[in-house]
Amino acid sequence: MSSRITESEWIWKDGQFVPWAEARLHILSLAVQFGSSVFEGIRCYSTEDGPAAFRLGDHIRRLFDSCRIYRMRLDYSPAEVADACLATVAKNGLNACYVRPMVTRGYGDAGMLPVHGPLETWVCAFPWGTYLGEGALDAGVDVCVSSWFRPAPNTLPSLAKGAGHYNNAQLIKMEAVANGYAEAIALGPGGLVSEGSGQNLFLVRDGVVIAPPIDGTSLAGITRDSILTIARDLELPVEIVPIPREMLYTADELFFTGTAAEVTPIRSVDHIVIGEGRAGPVTRRLQQRFLGIARGELPDIYGWLSHVEKGAVAVGD
Ligand code: PMP
Repeated sequence: MSSRITESEWIWKDGQFVPWAEARLHILSLAVQFGSSVFEGIRCYSTEDGPAAFRLGDHIRRLFDSCRIYRMRLDYSPAEVADACLATVAKNGLNACYVRPMVTRGYGDAGMLPVHGPLETWVCAFPWGTYLGEGALDAGVDVCVSSWFRPAPNTLPSLAKGAGHYNNAQLIKMEAVANGYAEAIALGPGGLVSEGSGQNLFLVRDGVVIAPPIDGTSLAGITRDSILTIARDLELPVEIVPIPREMLYTADELFFTGTAAEVTPIRSVDHIVIGEGRAGPVTRRLQQRFLGIARGELPDIYGWLSHVEKGAVAVGD
């Protein structure tokens, strides 16, 4: 599995496109010193009508939520940043890709109080395949429970996608990979199941789709919300309840959701085989519907797709 970035040509920076290699920050920017930046991750799917960003408006809303939580005041409206995302995909001539808007605190302050450095807004877009390896969407992945916990609610604001938070995610992921697993499930500070390093988690037992609550230790995933919406529309029973670790081992089916991971089945946890050890029937049903809508193969009944050609306006072009 390679996580190496694939370069594209242009990056949108505060209203202008700059060449990929010139999108730089000073080493003493607060984003570098302290991880003072917020970001989003959005997938663009290849559809018959050209590339389409999945739930763009919801991702941009979460970006603005992250900014608000971290007291960052943007000079742009959500619509302007959304347009910049579509314009960046178009400018780079990309089809299926990943879009990464970021707001960074810049150079100018040595201490904790960010007053002098500029806030800079960036949109990058680049090709990206399946996150958890070729075949993961079909075969599922082997995971462990991490020895690292997610931060407590009164430490880091988990609803914000703050770059610094991802040091915890990297610890979780690196430990899992070092021990031969594709990913890990992290517990919250109280010992109950929280989420993966960059994915939310679902389990299925006796036909009920079960998710842990958004309890201040996890991100309110947009894919999670999409799966809850689809499950309810399929009239599957849905429960949002706290999940003790051992419920992972006794689940009939388990799966991750996330923009990068999409809907990835989990076939074992800590070497305990889940269900039949492959994608279960409920996971498959939800995954097929999710991917069908995202890829434009099923009707976009929720209005989740923003097509690049149709929506692109040349912001700063
Ligand atoms: N949790 C964390 C910590 C994440 O980074 C992500 C990816 N954004 C998710 C969950 C899944 O969220 P989404 O479905 O919105 O991508």
